[in-house]
Amino acid sequence: MPMPWITDLADLVLGRACGLCQAPGPSLCPSCLDALRRRPPPEPVVIGHPPGDTVTVHYRLPYSGVGQRLLLDYKEHGDRSLRRPLGVLLADAIESCIADDASTAEMLVPVPGHARPRRGFPALPDLLRLAHLELAARGARTLVAPAVSMHRDHAPLKGRGRLERWRTVRHAFDVDPSAVRRLARARVIVVDDVVTTGATVLEAVRALRRAGLDVHDAAAVCHREAGAAARV
Ligand SMILES: [Zn+2]
Repeated sequence: MPMPWITDLADLVLGRACGLCQAPGPSLCPSCLDALRRRPPPEPVVIGHPPGDTVTVHYRLPYSGVGQRLLLDYKEHGDRSLRRPLGVLLADAIESCIADDASTAEMLVPVPGHARPRRGFPALPDLLRLAHLELAARGARTLVAPAVSMHRDHAPLKGRGRLERWRTVRHAFDVDPSAVRRLARARVIVVDDVVTTGATVLEAVRALRRAGLDVHDAAAVCHREAGAAARV
């Protein structure tokens, strides 16, 4: 992690400013991050096909307006100054999945990404690493377990319709057998940066459940359909 003064210097040299209040510095300044975090969390959304084939997604921002711009700037435009604030928001979403009486560490399983990340850096694993550190600082016990992988690299989902997305990712994921043994008694939370149709998250949940694991909830920074139940 860079020293704070190096980050400050980089912000000065790059002329970076907060996208919300224009204060010089990272693209989301600490006070604007605090303001976003003070908003009441959106109601979790249940996706899938009841009964049984569903998962509840906890998230912090709708995938529109500010939320969409922050994630696109991070993922598509490679703005690494957003990694920490987005990691804090992801930690908030994960924290709302953790049971009050959790006696063991919750296992955080990221949705697998493409073999070639678009901007040359692993966007979700980097966010999850930050979220995990943030949760540890809050006293929450979590472990990151990249247990799901893609057994064939599906085509990019962006711009595809809901049905086409579902067909593309169906049965695209494998679960690591050694991870199944490690996670056998654990509560699993599936993590993504943004849930749009829900197809990818739901398929990861299905793959983990087929392997016999106890998937509890899913967490993401953003969800596209705020306040509305999304069916895949
Ligand atoms: Zn600001």
